[in-house]
Amino acid sequence: MKRRKFLKNASLTGVGLAVGSAITSCDNKVEGQKIPVKENAESKAVLPVVVATWHVEEATAKAMDVLQSGGSSLDSVELGCKVEEANEKGQSVGKGGLPDREGNVTLDACIMDQNGNCGAVVYLKDIKHAVSVARKVMEDTPHVMLAGEGAKQFALESGFEAEDLLTEASKEAWKKWKVEAKYKPIINIENHDTIGMLAVDKNGNVSGACTTSGLAYKMNGRVGDSPIIGSGLFIDNEVGGATATGLGEEVVKTIGSFLIVELMRQGRSPQEACEEAIGRIVNKPGKDYKDFQVGYIAVNKKGETGCYSIHQYFSMTKFQDGENKQIQSDFYNKV
Ligand code: ASP
Repeated sequence: MKRRKFLKNASLTGVGLAVGSAITSCDNKVEGQKIPVKENAESKAVLPVVVATWHVEEATAKAMDVLQSGGSSLDSVELGCKVEEANEKGQSVGKGGLPDREGNVTLDACIMDQNGNCGAVVYLKDIKHAVSVARKVMEDTPHVMLAGEGAKQFALESGFEAEDLLTEASKEAWKKWKVEAKYKPIINIENHDTIGMLAVDKNGNVSGACTTSGLAYKMNGRVGDSPIIGSGLFIDNEVGGATATGLGEEVVKTIGSFLIVELMRQGRSPQEACEEAIGRIVNKPGKDYKDFQVGYIAVNKKGETGCYSIHQYFSMTKFQDGENKQIQSDFYNKV
């Protein structure tokens, strides 16, 4: 994507240039910072490893810290994701997330462990650590997913505290958006900043989590891919894991994360599997992928990783072999 088009889209959506760390990713490019391009052949089989969507080095540092101190990969992804959920400056996750068209901040999250257990919450209001509520659903209920009021009630009963998640900055951005209030938001990188995180401990045990406030200015009630096991996240401890960011509707239609894990099971590398999953989206007849972004990251049991997106400026943060770094993803749309 050309910087000019990015600016145009940013103004169309009413999302200011200071919004979210997805924007930071773009600005990194503009400022000329050096970010290694392309994650493929150089991917190493080293454990433990933590990877996450976008530029979230504090979150991956926390997750690696948990692994290094003997914590499980499940603890690692939960505590890593919580860093971003608590970060009010990130306007696509947890507190400070951009609201829906009616001003509600609603969170979606899921988590999956090495034993194939999983939990999720959708349309959760007023509780910033959606990922931890998802874990509670997994561990303390006979269910996989709780929604809306029921999810909030369960969270409160489990000891989570209610708070207003709409920050002044996000309220202002929403008010600006309302001036034009386009029914369908222009989908692009500036309003995508879901954190999907995958961790493999030193014994090769894999867990993952995904948490988001979803698309900015979505319809009230809309739920994306992020809390849907198989779409926004999938883990199979025999193989590895994958997670997604971007236009959730397109990820759901291709069950992207499950697809990537199954492709790895059949022998593809994480990089090849991510590329194939993006291929399934862009090669659909009648789809104008130029209007939206999807990005995937994946890891296999050995610790090899991959990432790929439709458009430029998607990135992955990887902590492996003592190095915590942002990697600019390779992408499909080179025109
Ligand atoms: N995948 C998320 C959703 O569709 C959005 C994002 O990644 O920012 O809700």
